[in-house]
Amino acid sequence: MGTIQKLSPLLSNKIAAGEVIERPASVVKELVENAIDAKASQVDIMVKDAGISQITVMDNGTGIAANEVELAFQPHTTSKIKKAVDLFNVRTLGFRGEALASIAAIAKVQLITSTDGAIGTKLQLAGGEKKNLQTVSASQGSAITVQDLFYNTPARLKYLKTVNTELNQVINIVNRIALGNPSVAFNLINENKTLIKTSGNGNLQQTIAGIYGRPTAQNLVAVQGQDNDFMIDGYISLPQQTRSSRNYISLLVNGRYIVNQQLTKAVLAGFGSKLMVGRYPIGVLNIKMDPLLVDVNVHPTKREVRFSKEEQLATLIKTTIAENLNDINLIPSAVNSA
Ligand code: ADP
Ligand code: MG
Repeated sequence: MGTIQKLSPLLSNKIAAGEVIERPASVVKELVENAIDAKASQVDIMVKDAGISQITVMDNGTGIAANEVELAFQPHTTSKIKKAVDLFNVRTLGFRGEALASIAAIAKVQLITSTDGAIGTKLQLAGGEKKNLQTVSASQGSAITVQDLFYNTPARLKYLKTVNTELNQVINIVNRIALGNPSVAFNLINENKTLIKTSGNGNLQQTIAGIYGRPTAQNLVAVQGQDNDFMIDGYISLPQQTRSSRNYISLLVNGRYIVNQQLTKAVLAGFGSKLMVGRYPIGVLNIKMDPLLVDVNVHPTKREVRFSKEEQLATLIKTTIAENLNDINLIPSAVNSA
């Protein structure tokens, strides 16, 4: 036998999982995004030990048909894209078909799912191997429980930070996804304590209130701007209401939370000289664009994306914020009545 061998699917999934699943927050992100792609209006997330010992995500979305449940956990299986051209026109949060296979490879997973709210399927896997498959009665949607994350990848397990740090990461990702999806009601519960609750009534300012608190949300200024390619809609704090980190600036592109230095700088540039050194605004910008203008297939976690007109978008962000802040300065009372 030669020295080069093809890896078994179990082993290659374990390797691929390293790219997608870094920590409990990555599991939460992937499962919640799947729920949104399945058109859920309610997503409940329950974690234990910040998700290190257990994560459950329940949704009232479409569910998975009985004959596709096992397939969903195979690598590179997706219902979201079909052809190469679809890669340039992604309208869902997922499309790589990697998450479920990756999660199953490095944890113990149970899925209960139903497409009709009566009969459903229960599948249990451990380390990527099927342990049990049966027909059960189930409510509409899907409930996935992930236990003992990294139990079979000790190096990964060791790399995890304290429960507090991991929990903050979970809260952070649920926050951002909730901000990008005000029409979905989110509940995040850690060991019976509710950490995030949004109403899902479609109102962004109320969603912000559910996350940063009512006093903060009430003092934000609505911002809106658009050009031929982009539409921006969101809220930003006044220069007097700042934080000591940029972490309170959320950029959402077609509902997807992204991280982008250039665009974050554009937000700050919109404030001109109004911000004190080391102070940053609170802001949520929902940016809508034709999916053709953004390549989301740059990074396995899709946190970073590539824009074909980044300069133009940065300019629009900057001027939108500058103009909306100027309007407020002209009419000081608008702040109080907002
Ligand atoms: P991707 O999201 O990139 O398609 P995943 O591995 O995350 O890949 O999921 C594989 C497939 O399983 C999805 O394409 C979808 O059809 C199905 N699926 C996963 N989670 C859910 C869910 N919560 N509700 C309905 N279908 C789901
Ligand atoms: Mg997915």
